[in-house]
Amino acid sequence: MNGRTIEGQSASVDCKGGTMSDSWTKPINSGDVPNDGSTFDVIVVGGGPGGAAAAAYAAMEGNHVLLLEKAVYPRDKTCGDAVGGKSLKHVEELGVKPLVESTPHNRVTGIVFSSANGQEIHCSLPEEEIENKEAGYALPRLQFDYMMFSRANELVLENGGSVIQDFTVTNVNVVGDGESQKIVGVTGIVGGKRSKNEPLTFTAPLTIGAGGYICPVAKTVTETCHNEPMRDDLHYCGAYREYWVDVGGCEGSKIPIEIHFIKEVIPGYWWIFPVGVNDEGKTVVNVGIGMVINEMNKRSVKLKKLQKWVIEEHPVFSERFKNATMVKGSGKGHQLPFGSPRKNAPSFQPRRSAMAGAICVGDAASLVDPFSGEGIGNALVSSKIAVSHFDKDAHSNGFPTSAADAYMQELWGTLGPELTNSLKMQKMVRKTWLMNWVLKKANKKQAIKDMLEQSLSSKEAQEEMKSTWNLLKLLLF
Ligand SMILES: Cc1cc2nc3c(=O)[nH]c(=O)nc-3n(C[C@H](O)[C@H](O)[C@H](O)COP(=O)(O)OP(=O)(O)OC[C@H]3O[C@@H](n4cnc5c(N)ncnc54)[C@H](O)[C@@H]3O)c2cc1C
Repeated sequence: MNGRTIEGQSASVDCKGGTMSDSWTKPINSGDVPNDGSTFDVIVVGGGPGGAAAAAYAAMEGNHVLLLEKAVYPRDKTCGDAVGGKSLKHVEELGVKPLVESTPHNRVTGIVFSSANGQEIHCSLPEEEIENKEAGYALPRLQFDYMMFSRANELVLENGGSVIQDFTVTNVNVVGDGESQKIVGVTGIVGGKRSKNEPLTFTAPLTIGAGGYICPVAKTVTETCHNEPMRDDLHYCGAYREYWVDVGGCEGSKIPIEIHFIKEVIPGYWWIFPVGVNDEGKTVVNVGIGMVINEMNKRSVKLKKLQKWVIEEHPVFSERFKNATMVKGSGKGHQLPFGSPRKNAPSFQPRRSAMAGAICVGDAASLVDPFSGEGIGNALVSSKIAVSHFDKDAHSNGFPTSAADAYMQELWGTLGPELTNSLKMQKMVRKTWLMNWVLKKANKKQAIKDMLEQSLSSKEAQEEMKSTWNLLKLLLF
């Protein structure tokens, strides 16, 4: 494991494979704020991994981009901090991989699962994958998002575009009625609604919504313009994370990430993800819990309270936490919009994510894996697909409905099979007896271990995982 820094702690020690740096703690210079009324080829709302990737890909295609972000970097994002193999391909393409490699990170080398009856299996990632740096990383989002945004900032400015941090989009501007409605840009305020600054309006033929689960562009595309639901508690997940040090069993190097299907937490799961070491050489772990909101409501579950119970009272885990300390102020909750297929989707799966003038990506398009909770990879995949559907010359008068539909079809064609499969897996783990049985089987059969690792280490799902029959075959024979 390499050195690292997380919120509330200072920069740490040596960094394997690169120069130790705390560069992600410095402000990012985004240049001048463009004039009110300025026009761009593409406006991107939100500068998380999805928005940063969309802005970077669009700038690399020679577009004049405006990237708008509510926060000021560096900023924290509540997450499990696992950046899977699927993300790394894009991280590399965008030129961010050397930055990640040269700063502290924990390369994921193995995964531990446990079932309700305490049965554990240890899955190791193939050495070759680790050597080729194709395995995922665990590193604080404070750091990862900074590097993604910083690269997007560089590419957008180099290509004559603009970036504004501390800019809250307050309105998504729509013209026309009914079938002829189209999004033409956004209005927002530097410093947010509470500031005394005048609102600024920007226009573009394409606005990309990358504002996460409460993205204003997604709201306009779904509820305002199509009267389709944006939120669905059956497919939204609540999650809570804290950082801890001195957790038993997390010492030394090559520490696996852990996923536990604890009886009292099912239908959710509890995780322990090591993300680095602090100044004192102690392993820092991201400890968190997640559950579908519909289930939380049915059971009146409070995630923070449930995690406290696991840490203080669970017969196995309380032992591991008896000498552990929580990093002050690190407890935060957030929501994950899952990409699981909706039963009666009014138009597109998992929900409408584009229309004339706009495309949504990442959490704004509800694309988080409903089993693993991984959303960074799909945010990057959707961003690349989104940009590939825009042609600044052909679409100079507005991104058309036909291109929006083509985006949604390609998106679901690409991600639909694995998201559908992940929903099956999510439902399967709710059955404790089945999970106990699967882990028992997995301990005996390498192919099942591989399948579980595949789902949770964020790599692209293999062909054989795409049908219930193949899943059953793997389990039964
Ligand atoms: C507890 C938890 C654990 C998770 N663990 C993992 C994990 O281990 N691995 C993984 O891959 N995924 C994980 N996820 C999911 C992952 O965090 C998201 O899928 C991912 O962040 C999506 O990226 P995004 O760019 O679409 O959205 P976000 O990362 O949410 O970024 C959205 C950006 O938009 C900005 N914004 C919002 N509104 C506005 C506005 N009005 N104007 C301007 N800017 C705006 C925000 O400030 C933010 O920077 C986890 C999520 C949670 C909550």
